[in-house]
Amino acid sequence: MSAAKKAASDAGRTKRAAKKASRKRGAAKASRAKPVAKKPARKRRRLRVDPERATALLDALAAHDPNPKCALDHANAFELLAATILSAQCTDVRVNLVTPALFARYPTPADLAAAEQPDVEELVHSTGFYRNKAKNLIGMAQRLVSHFDSEVPRDMDDLLSLPGVARKTANVVRGECFGLADGVVVDTHVGRIAQRIGFTRETAPVPIERDLMKVVPRDQWIVFSHRLIHLGRGACPARKPRCDECPIETLCPKRGL
Ligand code: SF4
Repeated sequence: MSAAKKAASDAGRTKRAAKKASRKRGAAKASRAKPVAKKPARKRRRLRVDPERATALLDALAAHDPNPKCALDHANAFELLAATILSAQCTDVRVNLVTPALFARYPTPADLAAAEQPDVEELVHSTGFYRNKAKNLIGMAQRLVSHFDSEVPRDMDDLLSLPGVARKTANVVRGECFGLADGVVVDTHVGRIAQRIGFTRETAPVPIERDLMKVVPRDQWIVFSHRLIHLGRGACPARKPRCDECPIETLCPKRGL
């Protein structure tokens, strides 16, 4: 090897060794570095609802709307079950426009159980997700016929075994048809107004329901939900609430939004 080549090779080796040493120093430094202190998670303030204000508010709602009825038109538990399945992602008003023709054509679980899916799809088309809803309606009716003697069961687990029936639907049917309250039904109106009146700070239905079950006495769970739905369709819609027409105006922290 010539002297010049040898010198170049030595220089290369020295450079690589220096780089390696530098990497080692970096790693050692990193391992000595103090761990970054994690910011403590901000504690959420516990929701406190003044019991006197809550009672006054519930009384005012009751005085304004003493016998609230379910917003979904129905003549029996089977019809309410079908209407509630259809109400997913759809307004009650729209469902009430669709169900008369559905119930006229399929008045019993046996009739609906024997239905052709495209026929049911056509009838429920305007409620959205019509393929899935038609499939669930027929499946629900078939299971009522095969497992429950064509009767709507009152047991929560039995209801949850029906296609298209989740906890909210089961709560609606148990509350309205059998007077059994397992929780507060939280739809879009109930969730929004519960926040406005300060009964919850939550935004998802399950934690909202949990908050409401603490504030509202159990014997009012069913009617409270109906009352808020009526209020949401009346003075307190999502946009532009009309607080001057509201029966709980003086008790609502969001009046005049
Ligand atoms: S006072 Fe206004 S914001 Fe409060 S519930 Fe009534 S309409 Fe809604």
